[in-house]
Amino acid sequence: MQLFQFRRKGIVQLGLRFGQQTGAFGINFTDTLQAFQREALGREQPAIHRMEVFLDEYLDLGTLVGQVMAFFTNYRRKETLLIPDEPEILPPLQQPGKILCIGKNYAKHAEETGSKPPKSPIYFDKVADCIIGPGDTINMPRDFGRVDPEIELAVVIGKPGFQVHRDQALDLVAGYTILNDVTARDLQTKAKDQGNPWFASKNYATFCPLGPAITLKEYIHDPHDLEMVLSVNGEVRQEENTSQMIFSIPVLIETLSHQLPLRPGDIIATGTPHGISPLEDGDTLELSIQGLGTLQNSVRAI
Ligand code: MG
Repeated sequence: MQLFQFRRKGIVQLGLRFGQQTGAFGINFTDTLQAFQREALGREQPAIHRMEVFLDEYLDLGTLVGQVMAFFTNYRRKETLLIPDEPEILPPLQQPGKILCIGKNYAKHAEETGSKPPKSPIYFDKVADCIIGPGDTINMPRDFGRVDPEIELAVVIGKPGFQVHRDQALDLVAGYTILNDVTARDLQTKAKDQGNPWFASKNYATFCPLGPAITLKEYIHDPHDLEMVLSVNGEVRQEENTSQMIFSIPVLIETLSHQLPLRPGDIIATGTPHGISPLEDGDTLELSIQGLGTLQNSVRAI
């Protein structure tokens, strides 16, 4: 069960994919939720067009989506709620409150960057203005030098929490998506050498491809057992299982929420595995994570 954002006739809407039942691309979740509220609950409510708003208003997503789908299954005019063919897919979140990223969370990746595995999580942030969606182009300034893609499992927060213990941490999670932590490697190395923050190397417009959808956590058996593959022009560069993460998702949530409240829509990128390599003008990237789909982007040197 995957939630996504799409645009049709200039309007952003929420969509839901749930396998092949409909013969359509998916269902218009914005319209279906509104029909459910009107006809099943007797409430007229404004349509929800943004994932951030949806996550903020509905904290128990698994239950709600189940109820809405049961309504859809028995709805007389369900064809009016379908998305007949592939729409323009947008990133599943465009203005998350925070994008928190974990560095060196896979031992072989720490090794390839010349460092030891960290003793506690290392974190930094990316800003929302870097987000692009499936099919969009990553712009690579020529004066940046080397720029690398980094495939990462991204956790989407669905419930607020502050100073959460690891045992309760997964309660905060709404679902998972794919994030490409594009990194200007030469700028990062220079910053590290000079003892400066990594910010500039991690934050350039288009350096955060995200998507294609949020798979609800109820449909992921174990987020610590997902195969992930990044290929460039069809050649595999990164291939690893999320079981190799050093700090698990509950530990990351405990650590990050100790310092900052986590809120619905926040994203935690859990780190990249080994196999980092530079991009070139004209490259086509495919990032796939088991159960989450494939995020495809192209690269342009500017
Ligand atoms: Mg990274």
